Amino acid sequence: MKKDLQFGSLCVHDFTKKINNHPHQLPIYATSSFAFENLEQGMDIFSGKKEGYLYSRYGNPTIETVADKIANLETFGLDIEAKCFLFSSGMAAISSLLMASVKSGDQILTQNNLYGGTTYFFQQILEPLGVETIFADFSNLENVKALLEKNKNIKMIYLESPANPTLACVDLQGVAVLAQSFDVKTAIDNTFCTPYLQQPFRFGIDFVIHSTTKFLNGHGNSISGAVIGRDIDFMLEKVWKVMKLIGTNSNAMDAWMLNNGMKTLELRMERHCKNADALAHFLQKNKKVAHVNYPSLESHPDYELAKKQMRGSGGMLSFELEGGFDSAVKFMERLQFCTIAPTLGDVDTLIVHPASMSHMNIPKAEREAVGITDGLIRVSVGIENVEDILRDVGEAI
Ligand SMILES: *Cc1c(COP(=O)(O)O)cnc(C)c1O
Repeated sequence: MKKDLQFGSLCVHDFTKKINNHPHQLPIYATSSFAFENLEQGMDIFSGKKEGYLYSRYGNPTIETVADKIANLETFGLDIEAKCFLFSSGMAAISSLLMASVKSGDQILTQNNLYGGTTYFFQQILEPLGVETIFADFSNLENVKALLEKNKNIKMIYLESPANPTLACVDLQGVAVLAQSFDVKTAIDNTFCTPYLQQPFRFGIDFVIHSTTKFLNGHGNSISGAVIGRDIDFMLEKVWKVMKLIGTNSNAMDAWMLNNGMKTLELRMERHCKNADALAHFLQKNKKVAHVNYPSLESHPDYELAKKQMRGSGGMLSFELEGGFDSAVKFMERLQFCTIAPTLGDVDTLIVHPASMSHMNIPKAEREAVGITDGLIRVSVGIENVEDILRDVGEAI
């Protein structure tokens, strides 16, 4: 056939060799659609009679391989099945799950100290669509129970644990049991932990969300998100439908970057925990540090709870500098080695001063109510040699 074609046609067509062995690495299927061998195959795949790919917004082999890996990690060691879909960002994952779960007139029960984007999504996107969000203190389950009794339209409890900026933890098992007794679904943003440190399904949570941009990728080179659910039918029908019809799907390139990062997840998480624990203890001894928030410190209010539901304390910590805003700004200016960047979970140590960066436009009283004080510094502790992190932070203080 090649002999009969003109120059331009040879440019356009690929004559893929049918080979008998597989590529060693996951191929990047940079294709919008999938061709059929013949009409019958196309009809069978379209009608669902046969498995197969159609169009990359619906599904793609690179993306699906990576999503299945995350589902396997979240259910590791558990006797349950789960389905995962990958999204274009953590926010796309969060919004798609909620679009699939609530409708006008429903209510969501959540906590005050969520990732900022999530709070804004609830207030600025869901609220005008008729979905009310109730913010509650989850350290008191009696209070949560009273709210569930009072608000009959709560359809979803949405959690983050540990949460910014104080690394406060929520009793996942306690909330899951309570939610089940009210026939309410539970979802958790597990970005800070990854399934290596915390498997929410173990405690009865229904949906797990990740900004895979962070620790799961670990190298800061792509944006993506994931939703994992144990109700397979709900995932295949409702969540997939939202992804497909709103177009919040991931792409093969970002999924591939994520997959590359996940190959070292266990090694990285062990090192993140070890370095963060060392930095937390180092900071605690410094007289210019008023307070350190890290779950493996006995001074942390959720020390026991974190030990029960997490395998390690993770790479995130925050601390309060004596001298407030001015000393925090000076500290940031003196850093030589650590990176100043508004993300987390990468291999390098990332430091932010929320009061002058991410939260600079939020009124002081409002940010202080969620723990963002003038002297608060947040650190995403990297996997470098810990001596270099301690020296840089110590000298900057
Ligand atoms: C970054 C982040 C998000 C949002 O994820 P994107 O990938 O940036 O959309 C959600 N939750 C948490 C905890 C995050 O850190």
